[in-house]
Amino acid sequence: MEAQVIPFHSEYDVSTEQARKLLALQREILEKVALNVEYREILDALCKAAEQIVPNALASIMTYDEVGTSLTVLAAPSVPAEAIAQLNGLVPGERAGSCGTAVYHNEAQYVANTRNDLRWSDLQNFVDNFSIRACWSSPIKIEKNKAIGSFALSSFEERIPSAFYKQLLETCAHIVGILLLRQEKEQSLLRLVHYDPLTGLINRTLFKEKLGVAIESASIQKQQLAVLVLDLDGFKDVNDWQGYDIGDKVLQQVVKNIREILGHRHTFSRLASDEFVVLAGNSGEPLSVQLLIGTILALFKKKLTIEQHEFTLSTSIGVSLFPEDGTTASDLLRNADTAMHAAKKAGRACARFYNEGLTNSVKYKMDLITDMRSALARGDFVLYYQPQYCQKTNKLVGAEALVRWQHPEKGLIPPNDFIPIAEESGFIQELGLWVFAEACRQCKAWWDSGIPEFSLAVNLSVKQLDADNIEKFREILCALEFPIHHLELEVTESLIMHHESLAELHKLDALGIRIAMDDFGTGHSSLAQLKHLPISKLKIDRSFIKDLSEDENDRIIAKTIIAMGHSLGLIVIAEGVETVEQQAFLAQEGCDLIQGYLLSRPLTVEQFSDLFKVV
Ligand code: C2E
Ligand code: CA
Ligand code: CA
Repeated sequence: MEAQVIPFHSEYDVSTEQARKLLALQREILEKVALNVEYREILDALCKAAEQIVPNALASIMTYDEVGTSLTVLAAPSVPAEAIAQLNGLVPGERAGSCGTAVYHNEAQYVANTRNDLRWSDLQNFVDNFSIRACWSSPIKIEKNKAIGSFALSSFEERIPSAFYKQLLETCAHIVGILLLRQEKEQSLLRLVHYDPLTGLINRTLFKEKLGVAIESASIQKQQLAVLVLDLDGFKDVNDWQGYDIGDKVLQQVVKNIREILGHRHTFSRLASDEFVVLAGNSGEPLSVQLLIGTILALFKKKLTIEQHEFTLSTSIGVSLFPEDGTTASDLLRNADTAMHAAKKAGRACARFYNEGLTNSVKYKMDLITDMRSALARGDFVLYYQPQYCQKTNKLVGAEALVRWQHPEKGLIPPNDFIPIAEESGFIQELGLWVFAEACRQCKAWWDSGIPEFSLAVNLSVKQLDADNIEKFREILCALEFPIHHLELEVTESLIMHHESLAELHKLDALGIRIAMDDFGTGHSSLAQLKHLPISKLKIDRSFIKDLSEDENDRIIAKTIIAMGHSLGLIVIAEGVETVEQQAFLAQEGCDLIQGYLLSRPLTVEQFSDLFKVV
């Protein structure tokens, strides 16, 4: 900072001692500037130094807010927070106190008595609340003719400033002006170094820095990251045929559109002319990445209109994953770039993963995502029913409805391939509702045709547990006149983590629908938590049943779950029972119900009906 610009006007008659004090203040502040102390800290120090010189006074600095219409307090270390809150939003004017008036007239204002000065007439509340009796304020100027704020000293006593105090005020206001100017320059310099002026996106340098930080925290938290390099297809033609001005506008529009999709969750940067990169924030799992890619690719299907010209652009996307494809920012960027070139080679307007195996599975799943909605309308989804038997009597007492996708080209797709995608994309709401309605309809039809009634179990995803959905369930049940006591919904333990869904669970309970805890033992629910849930059944997860004969631990777990369930008054069912040994063990431990390939695989509607045919 240039110390010599701080004025020492001769109009003020200051003594040697006073001049020494001013110099000491300037030196203190200068040292802080030289040491690169944070500028707000310097402003606080300046206020405190002024307060040292003028006893019984409080210093405050106000500047225009971002909009530039009213003033906010930038620094006032000794002023109480309530007073600052009241001052914020002060609009400069002729009666806006000493500061508002100083900014308004671009001239220092020395109010000796705030209670009878016209300039304070609009702020009498403030005067009363905080006992401010005098206030002197000097405008802060960056340019000569425009005040951007004020430096003020307020007192609890009526007082007129001496020439020295006026000098002090002016000096402080000047120092603040210089500090703010310097701060502004640093900011714009930083913007130049790290931001792309055309799109406002961060540039490669800052992106790499951010990626480095993200890698560090992802490796500590054992999270995945995904880096997506996007290169526009055919952008060169836009520049060649329409000129750079239009080209720039196209880029800006593309960036705006992508930004809208990304929101604040992902880091977005411009690498080079028409090359961009996205760091998928804390959702590096391949499934979320697929959805993100799907949304970006779909975005480019819409035409862009720039100055009456229509453009159809597309983009090629390359993806690398942390930690699989690299553990440094450079490696991840390079590999995503390689993958992007593979996408170009593959015909553009598509995405490629650096790890090729992933590309195939992604392509398969992306096809499923795009296909799902029309598949439901086409009637591709079918339900299978897997019988559940009473362990003691071997009687069929229930059936679990299990959905499959009868795909015209891909064949029968198991639910594990599409349920997670449906959950992620929100489609589960629609699909789940269809499953619910169809299963209830089918069972009601069976029972009406004379098949003995049994309990119907329908799987429910946590995402389906909302008030809207439950109301729809109720309507479906009413319309079918379905015997509600026969209905059971299977939910998984993850639900316990979602407190919002607990309320919905109680609503189901109030409707008389029974709840079974599916895949029990794989989650983190404790006995204590179970006690508070409205559930009536525990389903021991298949993974414990699988190794019952070999694994002593699994035997203990299964045994414990059965005993625990019974102690809570719950029915216990084992799923995935494939062998007589498993069945014998479960019988010995008193497991109530059995479901599994040993007794029956999931059956089509016809096969299930056949079970009841009298031959
Ligand atoms: P789940 O709820 O645990 O369903 C039991 C799964 O175990 C079914 O697989 C069933 O076919 C299989 N299974 C039954 N007995 C045996 C056995 O003895 N051995 C073996 N190895 N497997 C057996 P599926 O039908 O492929 O369903 C897989 C998962 O998909 C289900 O697991 C469930 O989480 C989900 N799902 C299926 N239908 C629906 C649905 O309509 N809605 C929701 N939200 N999820 C569903
Ligand atoms: Ca189930
Ligand atoms: Ca299960």
